[in-house]
Amino acid sequence: MRVPKKGKSKEGKEMHYSVGALIERNGKYLLIDRNVAPFGFAGIAGHVDEGESPEEALIREVKEETGLNVENYELIFEEELDWNWCSRGIDVHYWYFYRCEVSGKIKREAKEAKSIDWYPKKEIKKLSLGKKLEAVWEYWFKKLKII
Ligand SMILES: [Zn+2]
Repeated sequence: MRVPKKGKSKEGKEMHYSVGALIERNGKYLLIDRNVAPFGFAGIAGHVDEGESPEEALIREVKEETGLNVENYELIFEEELDWNWCSRGIDVHYWYFYRCEVSGKIKREAKEAKSIDWYPKKEIKKLSLGKKLEAVWEYWFKKLKII
């Protein structure tokens, strides 16, 4: 299934389609410290490009931002968020959110991330209390009862 580059939200606003990747290994979650707005610690995420399917975007974004290969994925939910903005000036995003298994070696993408590392729940909670988690990831970690 392909999605258009821009769609219309339930309320008729311009909307982007995006993918999020929850990557967990041995009880730790892979987070980057974002180098582009919105800032904060976040999982791997990005826009679905023109002509792409969400699954293709997922595999591409994970590779670009982490150097890792997606071996397995599962769509755990999809939802429209009308408070979630991006640096391209759009205020609504429709998210496809996946849980992924990955292989390979981490390679930081300097343009996207100040750092990339694995964080246990306890550390993610601390990031949340310190207001250092990016808003949409804070929302998802809570939604998934990880924090
Ligand atoms: Zn966007």
